[in-house]
Amino acid sequence: MSKRTPLRAAWIDGVWKENVSLLVDEHGQFEALEELKAGETGCDFLLPGFVSSHSHAFHRFFAGDGEQKGSGRQLGESDNFWSWRTAMYKEAALLDPDTYCKKAEVFFKELLSFGVTHLVEFHYVHHKKDGSPYAPVTELSEALLRSAKNAGIRLCLLPTYYNKGGFKQNIFPDQKRFYSANLASFLKLAKKTERLCKNYGQDFGIALHSLRAVDQKEIPQILGGLDPAIPVHIHVSEQQKEVYECLRIHGKKPIELFLSSANNKQNLFLIHATHADANELKLLKDKGANIIVCPTTEANLGDGVFPWDDFSSLADGSNLGFGTDANLSVSMWEELRTFEYSQRLLKRNRNIAAPAEHKSVADFLFASAWKTGMKNFSQNNYLQKGALFDGILVDGSCPTLAGSSLENTIPRLCFRSQSNDWLKKTWVRGKVQFAKKPAP
Ligand SMILES: [Zn+2]
Repeated sequence: MSKRTPLRAAWIDGVWKENVSLLVDEHGQFEALEELKAGETGCDFLLPGFVSSHSHAFHRFFAGDGEQKGSGRQLGESDNFWSWRTAMYKEAALLDPDTYCKKAEVFFKELLSFGVTHLVEFHYVHHKKDGSPYAPVTELSEALLRSAKNAGIRLCLLPTYYNKGGFKQNIFPDQKRFYSANLASFLKLAKKTERLCKNYGQDFGIALHSLRAVDQKEIPQILGGLDPAIPVHIHVSEQQKEVYECLRIHGKKPIELFLSSANNKQNLFLIHATHADANELKLLKDKGANIIVCPTTEANLGDGVFPWDDFSSLADGSNLGFGTDANLSVSMWEELRTFEYSQRLLKRNRNIAAPAEHKSVADFLFASAWKTGMKNFSQNNYLQKGALFDGILVDGSCPTLAGSSLENTIPRLCFRSQSNDWLKKTWVRGKVQFAKKPAP
């Protein structure tokens, strides 16, 4: 027996279809959107679930704890990205498989309660504190897969290659947990992780931590040996110091350097790209690569502001995604609005982060985040007949949407929501993984 959910409107690739009911069969498979029957009324909205295209789950465990002044003083610096990184290494040292699994499950449930159905996890803590491998070597990857299964979220897990302490530098002691001694040992770990992902019914990709952590000479070999459909992620051009060092050592900026080893058939995701110049962005478009911005983390770490002016002429909504990264926020609406607000503060203007042909910034960014993020997942159509249903139901009677016109629905959610009171239900694989409690 199918379950009917009457709607005011359903979102289909950026267009609202009004007065329909969602039909999901008894196995949780999407059947159809059908016109409302006589006597049926719908006030809620159907959207695809959010994709957070970049996350380090364990950062959520200490989010908000690095905000006291002074962490940079031991390094003789002001508080900055690099002093935060030292604090993050201390947290990474504390992880063990059991607590990792339990805390990640709590975090994944938080994401589901904010409508995030898909998460791309950039996983770089692989080994024990002293750098020796767990038995099996994929113990911490499996901890994450177990948490995702318990919470009911879709995951694309990216085991991460980390082989250097910085440009042409050996690994530092507090990076031992991330370290693969050579490419062959990493690829072995990645292969085993891929099998595990399959067993858990989750998606798989790989990550290169950054050009700081991977020898640039190995990149062609890594990319060349992969099935081009596999997502490949890399942190790039996040901090100016990294850009200057890359230029000094390699004579090229990081994005240009990385893309010189890539071809245009690969499924590439460049995380941050904060200091990309116009030439690098053009190159990125030519290679068909994607940019993932993480606005709340980039603001928190003082990275800088993404160069929208250089990017806007290249953006059609198919190559700009969003991630929660250090997971200070689990609200993707907050990520979208922080992106737009950073541009407004910079330009002293409004309604910036969408190309001219798009009337609504929020609608454009919502669609972009979803389309780009879904390139990490094998099932990537949310209204596909017979597929297990992933989606979110927006409460049309919540205060955020009171009295709203249809065209203001997404802008209101993006710019006005301060909690998750707008979310009524989150489905993943046809099961309700979050449901709003009725008012007492
Ligand atoms: Zn990151």
